[in-house]
Amino acid sequence: MIAIVPLGDVLFLGAIGEDVEETFCAEARIYRLPLNLEVAYSPERGQVHAGTVLRMMEGIEIPGAIKVLAITDADLYERGLNFVFGEAQLGGRNTVVSIHRLRHPDPGVFLERVLKEVNHELGHTFGLGHCTNPRCVMSFSNSILDVDRKSRRFCPSCRRLLNEALYRSGLGPCR
Ligand SMILES: [Zn+2]
Ligand SMILES: [Zn+2]
Repeated sequence: MIAIVPLGDVLFLGAIGEDVEETFCAEARIYRLPLNLEVAYSPERGQVHAGTVLRMMEGIEIPGAIKVLAITDADLYERGLNFVFGEAQLGGRNTVVSIHRLRHPDPGVFLERVLKEVNHELGHTFGLGHCTNPRCVMSFSNSILDVDRKSRRFCPSCRRLLNEALYRSGLGPCR
């Protein structure tokens, strides 16, 4: 099971859950956790430190959850970077995605961007690194233009790696 944890009000939770189930061949469940983002908030920057959020998630047990995906409306940053769309523990359990910079007047475009970042960060938790295929969801996104350029699908070689990781995690099989 993959746990989806909204931190604050997050749109599209149902659609995100459906896409996660389809993409990762796993059950997705919405979980509410009492995580206080103020602990990770930097008043100087007006942003939330992504690494601190991941550390806060570490101490929380969710029975049956192989991966835990937190989604927030807060703007995330990491040291040395102006912002990040999300951050994940490579090959680990936890990841956090921000929808803050993914907004678009067209809700369809907005949702598509969110699904791309969700798939990308969950891909990292299954051990996938960045991909050089610009259409692959595992390609690195430095800007919103990069997000719009890539698809929300894994390229054949990343899909193969992902399916192997899913199998090792006891998930799937993916059709
Ligand atoms: Zn990445
Ligand atoms: Zn790829």
